[in-house]
Amino acid sequence: MEGRILIIGCGGVATVAAHKVCQHTDIFKEIKIASRTESKCKALADVLNKKYGTQVTTAQVDADSVEQLVALFSDYKPELVMNLALPYQDLTIMEACLQTGCNYLDTANYEPKDEAHFEYSWQWAYRERFEKAGLCAILGCGFDPGVTSIYTAYAAKHHFDEIQYLDIVDCNAGNHHKAFATNFNPEINIREITQKGLYWENGKYVETKPMEIHQPLNYPGIGPKESYLLHHEEIESLVINYPTIKRARFWMTFGEAYLKHLEVIQNIGMDRIDEVEYKAPLADGSGEAVVKIVPLQFLKAVLPNPQDLGENYDGETSIGCRIRGLRGGEEHTYYVYNNCSHQAAFEETGMQGVSYTTGVPACIGAQLFIQDIWNMPGVHNVEEFDPDPFMERLNEQGLPWH
Ligand code: NDP
Repeated sequence: MEGRILIIGCGGVATVAAHKVCQHTDIFKEIKIASRTESKCKALADVLNKKYGTQVTTAQVDADSVEQLVALFSDYKPELVMNLALPYQDLTIMEACLQTGCNYLDTANYEPKDEAHFEYSWQWAYRERFEKAGLCAILGCGFDPGVTSIYTAYAAKHHFDEIQYLDIVDCNAGNHHKAFATNFNPEINIREITQKGLYWENGKYVETKPMEIHQPLNYPGIGPKESYLLHHEEIESLVINYPTIKRARFWMTFGEAYLKHLEVIQNIGMDRIDEVEYKAPLADGSGEAVVKIVPLQFLKAVLPNPQDLGENYDGETSIGCRIRGLRGGEEHTYYVYNNCSHQAAFEETGMQGVSYTTGVPACIGAQLFIQDIWNMPGVHNVEEFDPDPFMERLNEQGLPWH
């Protein structure tokens, strides 16, 4: 492969991934960043080209439009498209990849705009078409999903005969010194955590009320933090790929102030994703026009931009997998995790730790694909590939594990 890649999106995650890609010009020979707002891509490309001596180019694209994507892919001919836009664009980008013979990688599973619901079935439906076309789609190559799935694959390969209990634990013990802010796209984040909880037990899913189940968990170097059971997408593929799993759960920490704000946001309807009518005054003062707005999208516009949190963010994240199962007929436990400092992430890339922990794995997945180490025709979740080279590179490229 020649090493020609296209990054779609220019937010927090894409910025980190682009920095990492530019640190590996031995693998990536031609780099383009395309997004809805090209001025942001140009500003990022300037920073990268100055810092790394690269020649990153940019383009404007609306990734909701298969037609625009096809035109861009046909012209640039990327070997791999890294989808670091939003989950809404997964299917249009996959479709355009199929039409133009490009391979695909993302960090979040598809979500329809008009329904706060995510699951893999929509993307898994593309398996046969990717396979027949001899193209590879790598799904969920961020931290969670992504590294957590690779940790599980690594544990299964090296430490267990049978994995039985899996708890994915995600703690953000950082402080951005804002009253309320989300660490990645607020719209996607609030949609995710206001959903019902869901976990896997004895061959079926158990549903809970949102945030119903919680307990303090002890995080290394951080201490105990109240952790809430959420539905998270990697559980869906992991229980299929590791059918011996009896129970799989996902936990995330939230502070009291965050939860209080969230409760108010829900109580006053600002988390609504349907359109409401709003009377907006006309600029010339001659009256009012009725416009339609989606409250959650409006909220996103007034909340702090996650990309601007980095400068004053201190503390660290700690994400890992706690696994129990059998080895040599005996019960065995294994805990694998990474702690990531928000300040260190900011110093390297200008972004905070949550963007960093997502963008670095996306770049490692892209490296392994371009080097033909992770390349199988079809649509694959990351745990289906060999975890060893990925685990090695995590240690070398900013996300060491313990
Ligand atoms: P941001 O909101 O910061 O960035 C999203 C980017 O996508 C923006 O540049 C935006 O453009 C662009 N975009 C949105 N719509 C379109 C469109 N129709 N066409 C082209 N570009 C578009 O999000 P993040 O960087 O925080 O998150 C990126 C992805 O990473 C999300 O899918 C998120 O769910 C995922 N994620 C995954 C994690 C994991 O561990 N697996 C953790 C955190 C995030 P514009 O600037 O014009 O708005």
